[in-house]
Amino acid sequence: MILTRPFLAVTLLPGPLRFSSVVLELWGHCGGVGRFEFRRRTAWAASASQNLQVVRMASSHKEVPVAVVGAGVSGCVCASTLAERGIPVTLFDMGRGPGGRMSSRREATDGGKEFLFDHGAQYFSVRFPDVQKLVDRWLAAGLVKEWKGKFGSYDRLKMAFQDETFEDDLPKYVGVPSMNSICKAMSRQPGIRSEFGTTVASVKWKEEGAGGIWHLRSKTGEDLGAFRAVVVADKGLASDRFTATTGLPPPLEKAGVPTLYEKMANIKSVSVFVVMVAFAEPLTSVPFDRFTIERSNCLSGAVRLSNKPGRKVHDRSECWVLHSTVYYANDIIKKEGLAKPSSAALDDIANTLFKEFQEIVPAAPTPLFIKAHRWGSAFPMQAAAPEEHCLVESSRKMIACGDYCVGPRIECAILSGLAAARNMQQILDSGSSKI
Ligand SMILES: Cc1cc2nc3c(=O)[nH]c(=O)nc-3n(C[C@H](O)[C@H](O)[C@H](O)COP(=O)(O)OP(=O)(O)OC[C@H]3O[C@@H](n4cnc5c(N)ncnc54)[C@H](O)[C@@H]3O)c2cc1C
Repeated sequence: MILTRPFLAVTLLPGPLRFSSVVLELWGHCGGVGRFEFRRRTAWAASASQNLQVVRMASSHKEVPVAVVGAGVSGCVCASTLAERGIPVTLFDMGRGPGGRMSSRREATDGGKEFLFDHGAQYFSVRFPDVQKLVDRWLAAGLVKEWKGKFGSYDRLKMAFQDETFEDDLPKYVGVPSMNSICKAMSRQPGIRSEFGTTVASVKWKEEGAGGIWHLRSKTGEDLGAFRAVVVADKGLASDRFTATTGLPPPLEKAGVPTLYEKMANIKSVSVFVVMVAFAEPLTSVPFDRFTIERSNCLSGAVRLSNKPGRKVHDRSECWVLHSTVYYANDIIKKEGLAKPSSAALDDIANTLFKEFQEIVPAAPTPLFIKAHRWGSAFPMQAAAPEEHCLVESSRKMIACGDYCVGPRIECAILSGLAAARNMQQILDSGSSKI
């Protein structure tokens, strides 16, 4: 029920101009805490084989960890909930840190001036009580604050800004000091071992004793260990995008979970580009902190990051993020393919989108810093599990979660992570005599 509007927006507005507001429309009105340090490869290789021994020698099944693949908000919420219930978790992510599409990125000018950009999700709202309970804990821990920014829109044809009216008046939350603070805290929670910079490329089930065990390998063939159950917190593991970027088959293709694999593989996503921009002075001529852009071919919106709560601002400088339309991103991907874009292609994209921004904000000066980033799977276009909120393969002790199960928003990803943890606990409890 909560998904109808965003998904319709994608499917019913195919024209280039109409697509201009899709991405910002998709931003919803829909965000455990503790410790772990990054492990070096060698130390981890040793712990992977120790992990296998734990499986063989475990006096209690509770000692064998559950693998959670993907440290976006859905994976982190799932890992955190399991760990709080006494189930040890190993959390993998191919990125340098946790957060996924809720990440933040530190960038520097040639002169060494640093800026922190929320280059993915900007804020979230909450409708579901279970999610609100979690967010209340994050608020109390200082990981999240309400953002009372001014929201509006700009009409490219009328060349005018106007106030935005929301159907509801829900608080808008942001991570503090950056969007990834929430996932960072969860990934460091006691009971969770986090392994970043690790792409899980192989997930193989082996019958062992009364139960079965999952064996994971990285894209370089490294043994990542044995696990009593697996939560897959990104549909990328069943996507041909995995092959486009790694040259390897999607990890779930031959994992012996055909139903789950197909449901994940069938969900398509749209891509967008974002441009991170830093100015020496605030853009005082813009009356809003975040505005959508109507009737532009290439820009769908812009966000002033520096006015979010808890952001460090150097001197008078101001950071912005510009969002492309889905239409523009599709056009580029058609020409360039799915492989990682070259720096030259990203520079071109940054220049095009910034030029359009300058048409809207003529007072915008030459930036101190500018860089484009592609989100290849930015927003899922359908929901794979709108009622259950996650996909469950009990016989193989595998669960898939992520926003694509529910809707293209942070709250939906959180709901999915909570459902994955709940279902995983039931599976483990029901098979507690086995591994
Ligand atoms: C530009 C942009 C703006 C957005 N704005 C908003 C907004 O304002 N409000 C809102 O509510 N939502 C917004 N969203 C959507 C929101 O970011 C997502 O719904 C949410 O973050 C999804 O979380 P997730 O855990 O499902 O997936 P992700 O955050 O994508 O996490 C999946 C993780 O899995 C990892 N991974 C994938 N494959 C592997 C592998 N093989 N091995 C290891 N790790 C792997 C990835 O690196 C990633 O970290 C926005 C999204 C984008 C892209």
